[in-house]
Amino acid sequence: AGSGKFFVGGNWKCNGTKESISKLVSDINSAKLESDVDVIVAPPFVYIDQVKNSLSDRVEIAAQNCWTGKGGAFTGEISAEQIYDLGCSWVVLGHSERRHIIGEDNEFIGKKAAYALSQTLGVIACIGELLEEREAGKTFDVCYQQLKAFADAVPGWDKIVIAYEPVWAIGTGKVATPDQAQEVHVAVRDWLSKNVSAEVASKTRIIYGGSVNGSNCGELAKQEDIDGFLVGGASLKGPEFATIVNSVT
Ligand code: PEP
Repeated sequence: AGSGKFFVGGNWKCNGTKESISKLVSDINSAKLESDVDVIVAPPFVYIDQVKNSLSDRVEIAAQNCWTGKGGAFTGEISAEQIYDLGCSWVVLGHSERRHIIGEDNEFIGKKAAYALSQTLGVIACIGELLEEREAGKTFDVCYQQLKAFADAVPGWDKIVIAYEPVWAIGTGKVATPDQAQEVHVAVRDWLSKNVSAEVASKTRIIYGGSVNGSNCGELAKQEDIDGFLVGGASLKGPEFATIVNSVT
C-alpha cells in the first residue's frame, strides 16, 4: 500500500435478499475493522435504505451506478440526487459488467462521473482490459483511454478513487499477480502525472479488483501502488471482507 488512506469497497452486485443482507450487515457490524481504512459497501439500489438504517456509520455506502444527470423522465434510472438522499457518499461507475454486459461506453460513463461529483458524491472509477486486449499487448492503451474519458469529463480528482479491475480477473477466481497489478497501477499513476498533474498522480488512490479474497489480499496489499481493493464475491461474506479490509500494511 502507498501513502494514501487504504480504501476497501465491497461490491455486492445484484445479490441478496432482505434476509441475507440483514445477516451480512450484522456480520460487518460485529467485525473488527482497522481504523485507518476507508470501508465502503455497495448494495443493490433496492436495499440501500435497509443497509443505511442498520449498518454501522463506520462503513460508508456506495451505489453501483447512477444516471448521467438530474432525475426526471428516465424510466428505470436512479439519479445521483436520489442516491445522495438515501445517505450514500459514493457511486461505482464504469464497472466492467456495465461496460461489457450492458454496453456503457467511455463518454456515457464520463458524463455520469461529472454529474455524480457535482452532487457531492465520490466516484469509484473502474477501468480495466479484457483478456484479448491483454494478450494483444493493449492493456495500457485500454486503461489510458478509459482514464482519459474520466479526465476529459470531470472538473477535479479530489473525490475520485480509481479501481483497476482487469476484466479477466473479475469473478473468475484468476486474480492478477501482485506484479501484474502493480505494473498497471504504476502506469496509471504515470498517466495521471503526465496528463493531469503530479499532485493528482501522487494523491489519487488506485485500488485493485478482480478475485481478491481473504487469502490473496495480503500479498497484493504489500505492493507500493495498491491503495486498497474493490471486492465482489468475497465481500458477500462478512468475516472474509473484514480480513481484506485489515490487510492494510
Ligand atoms: C468486482 O465486482 O468489482 C469484482 C472485483 O468482483 P470479484 O471480486 O468477484 O472478482
